[in-house]
Amino acid sequence: MKEHVSESVAVRTVDLTRSFGSFVAVDRVSIDVPHGEVFGLLGANGAGKTTTIRMLCGLLAPSSGHAWVAGFDVVRESERVKSVIGYMSQRFSLYDDLTVEENLDFYGGIYGLHRRQLRSRKGELMELLGLTPHRAKLARTIPLGWKQRLALCCATLHRPKVLFLDEPTAGVDPISRRSFWNLVYELAEQGTTVFVTTHYMDEAEYCNRLAIMHEGRVVACDSPAALKSRFALPTVEEVFVRLVERQFGLSNSRPGEDQPRA
Ligand code: ATP
Repeated sequence: MKEHVSESVAVRTVDLTRSFGSFVAVDRVSIDVPHGEVFGLLGANGAGKTTTIRMLCGLLAPSSGHAWVAGFDVVRESERVKSVIGYMSQRFSLYDDLTVEENLDFYGGIYGLHRRQLRSRKGELMELLGLTPHRAKLARTIPLGWKQRLALCCATLHRPKVLFLDEPTAGVDPISRRSFWNLVYELAEQGTTVFVTTHYMDEAEYCNRLAIMHEGRVVACDSPAALKSRFALPTVEEVFVRLVERQFGLSNSRPGEDQPRA
């Protein structure tokens, strides 16, 4: 599989599969994500998004198939993978009793940043993410939207090559989601590849490209514009519904119509 160990793409998976007992959570997923892309994995609850991200971060072994992140094999070189990625999980861990800045100092220490490096990167990111006025506040006292910004800041302190965000904006309002996404774009412009999962359809529209996942499989992968044009539908949400209906053989039915009987 030497030919797949390529640095030309930030993330490559080939038939990546993960089963739990007889249940296949991720089923032969093959995707390429070029450097600098904001790539989205869109799917309903249970589609297999988190399981895919955990394999890509070297946290969960695949049952079969292969994956590389920044050219490193996620199984054989999982420690190298961990050194070049940032990961913001659904349950990101901030320390409530530490201030915004102390949380950043803590994560800077974990990533092995030298004091000078940390000071300059921390200042730069707090400015970019609008956290400077909140630097002395305890994490537990800031609103959820700011906590998510702080978690993003922590995950990107060490300038990761690939940033994995697992449903980063769950539970925040559309305005906060939008401003969070502007920040994600700024990070991508600085050269970070962003791999993000979501089940918010508006967020899916912000990605450069999108893989739509359903029951462990990627059922379509393209830019939001290309997906909408291919299906002649005005929104990614409608494309998503069409694709899911197809999987169930319901493509001719419409909400409210009688479903075919078995
Ligand atoms: P959500 O949006 O709810 O986070 P998801 O798309 O991220 O969903 P996963 O968390 O990857 O989905 O889960 C995919 C499927 O695999 C689900 O049916 C889940 O119950 C199952 N699953 C995940 N982890 C395990 C596990 N450790 N043991 C058994 N089943 C699991």
